[in-house]
Amino acid sequence: MENLKQEVLSCTKCDLHKTRHHVIFGEGNIKAPILVIGEAPGHDEDMIGRPFVGKSGQLLDKIHAACGFTREQHVYISNIVKCRPPGNRVPTDEETRTCVPYLFKQIELIDPLILMPLGASALRVFFGKEYRITQVRGNWLNWYNRLVMPVYHPAALLRNPHLKRDTWEDYKKIVRKYRELIDAEHHSDYV
Ligand code: SF4
Repeated sequence: MENLKQEVLSCTKCDLHKTRHHVIFGEGNIKAPILVIGEAPGHDEDMIGRPFVGKSGQLLDKIHAACGFTREQHVYISNIVKCRPPGNRVPTDEETRTCVPYLFKQIELIDPLILMPLGASALRVFFGKEYRITQVRGNWLNWYNRLVMPVYHPAALLRNPHLKRDTWEDYKKIVRKYRELIDAEHHSDYV
């Protein structure tokens, strides 16, 4: 993982390297059973050099805390694209194609039981454009024998708070699956 990290930190394979301040490789337990996958770093992440530290990240941490999940133990967090697209635009298909092999390598190394794509861009990387986040979120899917639970991106929850109720139901499924497959004693104050 350290070798891969060093390679990614010096990557110049796409134009996003020209405007980035930091490459955001990922963060968490490198043997975590859950891999959380966002779209791309935003402004705060790019300036600070860590994934999900802005408003979306704070909300994500709150949800994880309610589930009893921490970055230290239960999850690893990364993105499909490791450098910030200017103005927080959606990464282009070309940028995604260029960068996503790094994510696939991370999946191989971490070997998580559960993948959690946050939002449409991350979902598309695994299942193509015909899968809609609004239709498949909250449903267990399968990707090369790994369980996948697509959920809304926390930025979508900040824009549309009415999505929070459904999203919490999705996270409860993840906690229950975690107890079923990984740790029957897993504690959450809310599930
Ligand atoms: S976004 Fe990915 S492919 Fe593009 S420069 Fe950054 S690390 Fe390299």
